[in-house]
Amino acid sequence: MIGVAEIAAARERIAGRVRRTFCDPSPSLTERTGHPVWLKLEHQQITGAFKLRGATNAVARLGPETGGVTAASTGNHGRALAHAASAAGIPCIICMSRLVPRNKVDAIRSLGAEIRIVGESQDDAQEEVDRLVADEDFTSIPPFDHPDVIAGQGTLGLEMLEDVPDAATVLVPLSGGGLIGGTAAAIKGTRPEVRVVGLTMERGAAMQASLEAGHPVRVRELPTLADSLGGGIGLHNRHTFELCRTHVDEVILLSEEEIAGGIRHIYREERQVVEGAAAVGVAALLGGQVRPEGPTVSLLSGANIDMDLHARIVAGEDVDLMREAS
Ligand SMILES: *Cc1c(COP(=O)(O)O)cnc(C)c1O
Repeated sequence: MIGVAEIAAARERIAGRVRRTFCDPSPSLTERTGHPVWLKLEHQQITGAFKLRGATNAVARLGPETGGVTAASTGNHGRALAHAASAAGIPCIICMSRLVPRNKVDAIRSLGAEIRIVGESQDDAQEEVDRLVADEDFTSIPPFDHPDVIAGQGTLGLEMLEDVPDAATVLVPLSGGGLIGGTAAAIKGTRPEVRVVGLTMERGAAMQASLEAGHPVRVRELPTLADSLGGGIGLHNRHTFELCRTHVDEVILLSEEEIAGGIRHIYREERQVVEGAAAVGVAALLGGQVRPEGPTVSLLSGANIDMDLHARIVAGEDVDLMREAS
C-alpha cells in the first residue's frame, strides 16, 4: 500500500512543476468554531485543481517507450493531464464524447492536448482510450485509482502537516478517493492521531456506499453543484477503496443547499472562488456536521466552476441543478 516513502519521492519528482500551495488561517471559521481553522489553498494550483500533482507524478514516472498519455476525462483530470504532458513534451490525447460542451473541449485543447471526439457516451470515449493503449503504445493515466496518481495527491498531506504541525482534524473532499487516499496515507504515516474526514455530496456518494457495503458498488449519478465529485469508484477498484477503508475516520455527506452555502461563505468571508467540490469541508463546519476539537485544516481542492453559476450562488439564488436539468 502507498505510504510516506512513495509520497515523499513523488514530492521531489514534482517539485518545481506544480505550485507549493499554502494554508491560510480563516478568522471567520476560527471565531465560529472556537478552534483555529486553516484553509489549504489548493484551488490556486496551476490548472485550477490539485489533480496536477498526481498527473505530473504519473507522467514523470513514464518510461521512454511510451507513445504518449491518454484519458477519458473532461474535467479537472483531463486538464491536469493535458498540462503535465505538454510541460514534459510528450503527446496527450484526451478522449470525449460528442455531448461534452464546447467550453470544456476548448479549455483542454488550450492546455496542449489533442482532443478526440468519439461516440455519445463516456463509455465510447473510454473505448478509444483502450484502443490507443492497445494499438498506439499510449499509456492510460486514470483520474484516481493509480499508485503514482495517489502518491502525487498525497504530497498535499505532507504540506498541510508542515504548515499546521499541530493539526487535529483534516477535512478532504472525496470522490474516487485518490485525493483522500494519498493525503491520509501521508498524514497517518506521519501523525496517526490526526483525524481524517472525507466529505462528499448526498447525490451519488459512491465511496461511502462502497465502504458501507464492504466492497465497491455503483450508485446512481445525479446533477450536483459538486460535479467534480461525480462518478463511481470502479467495480474493480484496486487501490483507493482499501486506502479509504484503512485511513479515513469518517465520511460526511452534504446537501446541495449546504454546498451552495460553503461556496457563498468562501467567497464572501474568505474572498476566494471555489467550485462545489472544494466547498464541502467549509460547508460541514458551517452546518455543524464537523465539530473541531483542535486545529482544523479544510482542503479547498479546485476553482473550476462556471462563473455564471458561481454568480447566482453567491447572490443567494436557490440553485438546484436537478430541477434545472429536468
Ligand atoms: C477530482 C476532484 C476531487 C475528488 O478527488 P478524488 O481523488 O476523485 O476523490 C475533489 N475536488 C476536485 C476539485 C476534484 O477535481
